[in-house]
Amino acid sequence: MLDDTLDSRAARLNDRYRHHAATEVLRRAVSDPDLGRVALVSSFGAESVVLLHMVSRVAPGLPVLFIDTQMLFPETLEYQRDVSARLGLTNVQVIRADQTQVARQDPDGTLHQFDANACCDLRKTVPLEGALSGYDAWITGRKRFQNNDRAALEFFEPEPPSRLRINPLAHWRAEDVQEYMVENNLPRHPLVAKGYPSIGCAPCTSPVKPGEDPRAGRWRGSDKTECGIHFIGGKIVRGKVPA
Ligand code: SF4
Repeated sequence: MLDDTLDSRAARLNDRYRHHAATEVLRRAVSDPDLGRVALVSSFGAESVVLLHMVSRVAPGLPVLFIDTQMLFPETLEYQRDVSARLGLTNVQVIRADQTQVARQDPDGTLHQFDANACCDLRKTVPLEGALSGYDAWITGRKRFQNNDRAALEFFEPEPPSRLRINPLAHWRAEDVQEYMVENNLPRHPLVAKGYPSIGCAPCTSPVKPGEDPRAGRWRGSDKTECGIHFIGGKIVRGKVPA
């Protein structure tokens, strides 16, 4: 009998698609019965257009969840509208925090200054968890090269208690991302040319100097490296998700 724990499903999918290219992983993932209901989560950041383009080619009606923290750069909001229209994505859903909770926990919009984790929970993690509750799996743009916590990233990862994460670009190098964008003539986020190779919320993202880690501008000066968008047993878990 088939072992259907979350771990075994992820292992089976990794085995099945081990030698597939990113586009093929994505193409199969949106129709593989082992995945169920799938959505793409996109920040419409510096490299997001790669996955958005792939989705537009294989499943333009796939739900694309965009978390508007209401702290984003205006350029990101404009880029989101522009890219969605140009690529013909027909199911982009803008997710925002519950405004009653925002008024209660961050009435003057300064929570990020003294408790960034609480701010990310309020504005990103909790709204995303709510939006993902109707899905069995979600597609992310995470890649191994981005930081040490992601060095062992696989195409498919278990996200207990019951969801899978799909990382079609897990094995891509920085050069692959750039080449794909050039080859497909994809529009760049306007802040990349201004020294932002990784783009999050405006108060928590700064430009990066030549030679610095591309993510050095995210939460600069603090230990924080991830938004905390991980869930274990329904609870938020920061940093690397245990295997
Ligand atoms: S990145 Fe900064 S502003 Fe955005 S949700 Fe997190 S702490 Fe708040």
